Amino acid sequence: MMRLGGLQRFSLCDYPGKMAAVVFTQGCNFRCPFCHNGSLLLSRNPGREIPGEEILAFLQERAGMLEGVVISGGEPTLQPGLADFCRAVREMGFLVKLDTNGSRPEILKQLLADNLLDFIAMDIKATLDRYHILAGVQVDLAAIIKSITVISRANIQALFRTTWVAGLHRQEERYLIPAMLPETMRHVFQPFKPEHALQPDLCGRGQS
Ligand code: SF4
Repeated sequence: MMRLGGLQRFSLCDYPGKMAAVVFTQGCNFRCPFCHNGSLLLSRNPGREIPGEEILAFLQERAGMLEGVVISGGEPTLQPGLADFCRAVREMGFLVKLDTNGSRPEILKQLLADNLLDFIAMDIKATLDRYHILAGVQVDLAAIIKSITVISRANIQALFRTTWVAGLHRQEERYLIPAMLPETMRHVFQPFKPEHALQPDLCGRGQS
């Protein structure tokens, strides 16, 4: 079963080069202070949840018009029904892009082994010694490293990205974070948007 807390019906910027819909899963195991999806963090949010069938019906209507579906969150790999959802979406003819925080490499490995993904984007929150600060919780760092390895070896499109928070990152992380990845992997820094942040004061409101 997938707990879904949101749907963006059309996006030109979430799946590079593709017209896509974005589905947002409910629940995340991180608490990044810069997160702008605060309503998606708890595992349940009854007032906002959208039945999976409703979203699949919407996607069925858009088959042939949209090219891809982005599964974002929250953290999608926490959802027991993720593989089935990816399969259903692919069977409609969509490309599937997964956005992940990289905390569950075994799930990524299985989705890749089952050929259910076309694109993975993984957040790299910070250098490993400071991961807990940017993730807002203690993180299994071995899992993060493993996810980087799994994604780097996968034969699909991949992107690593870091939301740059001037109030929390150290300047040297500008080069230390990309250096955590194999040279062949693409990495981008994304701007921090304080107006939507979970804990804007912790992030140094307004700094960029
Ligand atoms: S930004 Fe952090 S807290 Fe927010 S959904 Fe992503 S991983 Fe979870």
